[in-house]
Amino acid sequence: MNDPEVRLKEMLQKLRERRFRITPQRLAVLKILARSENHPSVDMIYEEVRRDFPTTSLATIYKTVTLLKELGQVLELGFPEGSNRFDGNEPSPHPHMICISCKKIVDPPLDSLSDLTSEAAQKTGFNIVTHRLDFFGICPECQGKN
Ligand code: ZN
Ligand code: MN
Repeated sequence: MNDPEVRLKEMLQKLRERRFRITPQRLAVLKILARSENHPSVDMIYEEVRRDFPTTSLATIYKTVTLLKELGQVLELGFPEGSNRFDGNEPSPHPHMICISCKKIVDPPLDSLSDLTSEAAQKTGFNIVTHRLDFFGICPECQGKN
C-alpha cells in the first residue's frame, strides 16, 4: 500500500495544475480515495463525505472522481452489474481479490505478476500495454460466517 499522505499530495498537485478549486468537500473525496480502503464506489464516497458535509451533492463526487481518472490518479474497476469501484491509492493496473458475498475488494501482494505478464506476451506475441486481472471468491471473514 502507498502512503495515503503522499498520494493525497500527488492528487492535489495534479488538480491544481488543472486549476481545479479544492473545496473542503472535494478535499474529503481526495482523502477517501488516497486511502481507498475497500476500493469505494461513488455512492460509498458520497455517504462518507456527507457525514461531515451534509450538503455535498453526488455531482461533486462524480466530477472529482472523473477528473482524477482523466489525470490517471485513480484506477476504475468496472463491473457489468453493480457500481464501479475506485482505487486512488494505487492508480496503476494491478490484480484484485473480490468477495462475491460482501463485495469487499483487496489488493493481493503478488510477486509473480511480472512473470505472468511476460509469459502471456511471449506466448501470444502481444505487446502488452495494460491488464485487468480479477479473482472472485469468498473472503476469510465471509468464510467464517458459515
Ligand atoms: Zn466477504
Ligand atoms: Mn487496488
